[in-house]
Amino acid sequence: MSGWKLSDDCRSIAFTDGFLIGTLSLYCNSQTRVDLFRLKINRVRVVRKADGYYAQFCFDVERKEEGKYTGLVVGLDLGLKYFTKDQNDNAVIYPQFLRKSERRLKKAQRRLSKKFVRGKKPQSNNYHKVRKRLGKVHLKIQRQRKDWSIKLARCVVASNDVVVYEDLKVANMVKNHHLAKSITDASWYQFTQWLGYYGKIWDKAVVTVSPNYTSLDCSNCGRRVKKSLSTRTHSCPKCKVEICRDTNAAINILQKGMKVLGAEWNNSTFGQKESASKDGKHGEKIASTIDGQLEIASGFL
Ligand SMILES: [Zn+2]
Repeated sequence: MSGWKLSDDCRSIAFTDGFLIGTLSLYCNSQTRVDLFRLKINRVRVVRKADGYYAQFCFDVERKEEGKYTGLVVGLDLGLKYFTKDQNDNAVIYPQFLRKSERRLKKAQRRLSKKFVRGKKPQSNNYHKVRKRLGKVHLKIQRQRKDWSIKLARCVVASNDVVVYEDLKVANMVKNHHLAKSITDASWYQFTQWLGYYGKIWDKAVVTVSPNYTSLDCSNCGRRVKKSLSTRTHSCPKCKVEICRDTNAAINILQKGMKVLGAEWNNSTFGQKESASKDGKHGEKIASTIDGQLEIASGFL
């Protein structure tokens, strides 16, 4: 063993190398305890958080579950007004409780900056008390956000076989200060990471597409319709379609994603080309748009 040793009952861990923390008691649920007994642990990492020390154990496992196929596909527009909106106009709204926690966080930050005295070393005991409290607020909201985005991602991938979303350049967008708060808050990144994760374990297609023009182009006729961020409806001067801008974007995103999958299929990186051309059905990418709703060729997967 290198540098650490679990006790026989896996209730404590002792560090024997330069890490002077010594022996720590381990608290975890019974399933984790069983895993610690059974699995070969490659590496242990100790992380200090505002409310204590956490040990992370790395081991190799293959997590594969049987995906339940639903025959449904979804294109997601990630946005500010709605966290996600799909091609059928279903919206997910960023929850109030997270907004509330964010306000609490801001308050705690203000309190800390009031206690800070410039140039003073060390800062007062009160300052450090408030600092620790702020750390806990941070931790709590991190956990709330993570929990929410995991559950949402799980739900999206569980109820669809193909999920397409925009590859947002989050870092770029955060530079735009008007958008910055909502974007960093909106935890899109975490959400998309978990989409990919569930896609992998359930063998479903999770596809990212480039965000170019997805909100401008008309999903019905392809005409590029200039609009500012505050324009909430997409109304096309050419084909007279009038739908919510995010729904329009979601349809474009879905179309792009299906094209990506179709191209892969035709290059036979997956799937057999022969069977596709034989019965013709598998080769179809996507069908037309009718009344702003997509008709998707079934039998695609
Ligand atoms: Zn149009």
